[in-house]
Amino acid sequence: MTISPPPFDPELKVVLDVVNQSISPTLLPEHLEALRGPGFTKTLDQLLAERDLEHRETIVPGPDGAPELLVSVFSRPGHTTGPGFFFTHVGGMIFGDRFVGVEPVLDYVDQFDAVVVTVEYRLAPEHPAPAALEDSYTALRWTAAHAAELGIDPERLFTIGGSAGGGLTAGITLMARDRGGPVLAGQVIMYGMLDERNDSVSARQIDGVGIWDRTSNETGWDFLLGDRRHGGSLTPYESPASADSLAGLPPTYIEVGSAEVFRDEDVAYASAIWAAGGDAELHVWPGGYHLFELLAPDAELSRAARRTRGEWVRRRLALRRRGPDAAAIASGSCTRRLTRGRPRSAAGRGLDRRWARGYSRTTPRPPTPRGRSARHTTPGMKEQCAMSGSSTATPPRLAGVFDLFTIGLGPSSSHTVGPMRAANAFANSLSPAVLDATAEVRVTLFGSLAATGSGHGTFGAIQLGLEGLRPETTLPSEAEERLTAIGTSGVVRLAGQFAVRCAVADFVLRPLTIAPRHPNALTLSAVDAAGAGLVTETYYSVGGGFVLREGDDEGAIGRDEHPVPLPFATGDELLARCDETALSIAEVVRRNELATRPATALDDGLVAIEQAMDACWRNALTRTGVLPGGLNVRRRAGVLHAHLDVVDPERRPEFWQERVNLVALAVNEENASGGRVVTAPTNGAAGIIPAVLYYALHYTPRSLVQDAHRGIVTEFLLTAAAVGALYKSNASISGAEVGCQGEVGSASSMAAAGLAAVLGGTPRQVENAAEIAMEHNLGLTCDPIGGLVQVPCIERNALAAAKAVNAAKMALWGDGTHHVSLDQVIATMRETGADMSSKYKETARGGLAVNVPNC
Ligand code: SF4
Repeated sequence: MTISPPPFDPELKVVLDVVNQSISPTLLPEHLEALRGPGFTKTLDQLLAERDLEHRETIVPGPDGAPELLVSVFSRPGHTTGPGFFFTHVGGMIFGDRFVGVEPVLDYVDQFDAVVVTVEYRLAPEHPAPAALEDSYTALRWTAAHAAELGIDPERLFTIGGSAGGGLTAGITLMARDRGGPVLAGQVIMYGMLDERNDSVSARQIDGVGIWDRTSNETGWDFLLGDRRHGGSLTPYESPASADSLAGLPPTYIEVGSAEVFRDEDVAYASAIWAAGGDAELHVWPGGYHLFELLAPDAELSRAARRTRGEWVRRRLALRRRGPDAAAIASGSCTRRLTRGRPRSAAGRGLDRRWARGYSRTTPRPPTPRGRSARHTTPGMKEQCAMSGSSTATPPRLAGVFDLFTIGLGPSSSHTVGPMRAANAFANSLSPAVLDATAEVRVTLFGSLAATGSGHGTFGAIQLGLEGLRPETTLPSEAEERLTAIGTSGVVRLAGQFAVRCAVADFVLRPLTIAPRHPNALTLSAVDAAGAGLVTETYYSVGGGFVLREGDDEGAIGRDEHPVPLPFATGDELLARCDETALSIAEVVRRNELATRPATALDDGLVAIEQAMDACWRNALTRTGVLPGGLNVRRRAGVLHAHLDVVDPERRPEFWQERVNLVALAVNEENASGGRVVTAPTNGAAGIIPAVLYYALHYTPRSLVQDAHRGIVTEFLLTAAAVGALYKSNASISGAEVGCQGEVGSASSMAAAGLAAVLGGTPRQVENAAEIAMEHNLGLTCDPIGGLVQVPCIERNALAAAKAVNAAKMALWGDGTHHVSLDQVIATMRETGADMSSKYKETARGGLAVNVPNC
């Protein structure tokens, strides 16, 4: 009897409908040949082209009397030692090769500096059970025996596999238990094929629907077990669900979709482990069909599945590495929160420190292994636990004041300024020979850039960058003139000289493809007249105009590293520097900045930044009508200014709120128009710091002192920069990565700190102000209507500026002691962003963007 299956996840269903056009839910014996045909899986070359991996193919001895085995080993370039993942592939044990389904596991190479081993086991029906099982177990033993040579820590060796590979994982883990090893740190069974009986409720529900339905499963088991399936004796390794006891297994992670054949047998397997007193973590992903994370890797559920699995691995690794101390931390009994490191999600693998644009600061230190965060590279979890009060940890590189405040074009630092810088860098990197041969530049945008690039001016920014223009020096009028010409012809002047095709109509947009490193990715390819690729580069625009090129270990464009005299990596370390030196936060930052430029250049540069902010909002006052983009959002700044001129000609204190609103609204209207804006620390949030700085310059007691202007500007901006650098380094200032809390929240926090400093706050009061402002912006989503940086962005800046003023005043009423530290709130922002649905991270797929579609 067929029972109605649970509904498929709506996002997954869209993909399933497409997949079912080429792959039937029901696979019969006669389909085997087609399944083994080309194109079912990525080739080794494709995998290697997509990732920065070191790889080797090795022939190892097979089981007694059986052929030798081909094994592939993947690791990070320069890898020394780390955890090992022994992978067994997808394919019902009747088709596929050792690379099918390995991609999520290869993520761990970068994420955990792991080594991944995958074996080409023999397939049924030519080689019925237990051939695949014995091959896999033999290769596992070989892996453990050669752990040192492979760079695997033998105490951190895991088995992992999906579908039939999940069944093999369960089987060889049982064999390791029963046959004397190897000792395993854990097993990961993904949507595992564990029970040859194939008669569970879920097996009966998934009949003629989905992928790999009940009949397909019958086909697979029949091929695999042959005549023994009906009447012969099976070992528990062949059908793990038949094991008498699951006691004595290593920690186990099991996951499965609610709408797939294997649901009930996987749930039962987890239950049996618990019943035997074992350690298992089970996840049933609602609406997930078989292999959903492989077939729809960009879907929300797929990413949640990968993230959750990765978290389990991370926790297991911490426990294995540190024993009881780490166990205390993992269980939450550590009383101090971690304050450094970044989320290890697919969208943010510890890249900030390599992504700083301009002259980032650093203290010389041993190089951090690529792809590992401070969380994984600091001396140990126990040390991390005490890090908040320690000054001994090696600091990360921090962004400098002129990294965080730069003059550019609106409307977005991540979607306009960053892509323009990336395209400019690409054009400048091409050799004369390549420039001469290039006939076209092809552009592919991924993730948020593809989703909202149209409304953020990304396309034109890329074309301008390819022409050699830079956001710092391009006037809006110049940009407009060039884009008009390019729009008509579809031709850009590559590097300012060579006419090549680069029409927006040819841009490839892949909004559902989220690059592992960051949601804002773009690929640029120079191709010749015959369409042959000459040079291809991928860049990431990571917020605030910062850009990283794929493949550069220290990939900052224009990076400049200078030792600084007073390094700090956290808020606590910043306060420690202040305590040690009796300097203010601004003075600590000033000392560090003076490592790269004279004092006059620093102060003049800061004043120039303030002047650019001032010019920006005053420009907006001259404009009327609606903002560009099609939403018909009215410009309000000019009207408000005219009104204030009447009611408040003397700029009286009771109108401070209106004046702050005016500056914030005006800056953001100018930004929305593609005008000249100071990124602070992003364009979307560019109105907050100018508005609060305006307050500092006109409404604070210090503003009444003669010639105070320059001192207020420098103290405000240097203090704000210290806070901004902490967000940049320890969380994110990218709305596409952590939502609007990373943009507006960070700017509000920076502004609160700057104002608190101008108001005479102590370093602890300043840190308190920064913390308060962010604490009450936590969770702020990014959902701009139409993908335009207008609604809610413009008003949000005004509100956040007011919040910053209040936070600074509130902090000044206290003595600097407070419950929540700035480091803790930064960590909270980071983790909240990691948990936030991608719908609310600058994709225009949720919130106001979908509920107010025709504003
Ligand atoms: S909602 Fe916030 S993060 Fe998103 S575009 Fe607007 S200002 Fe930027």
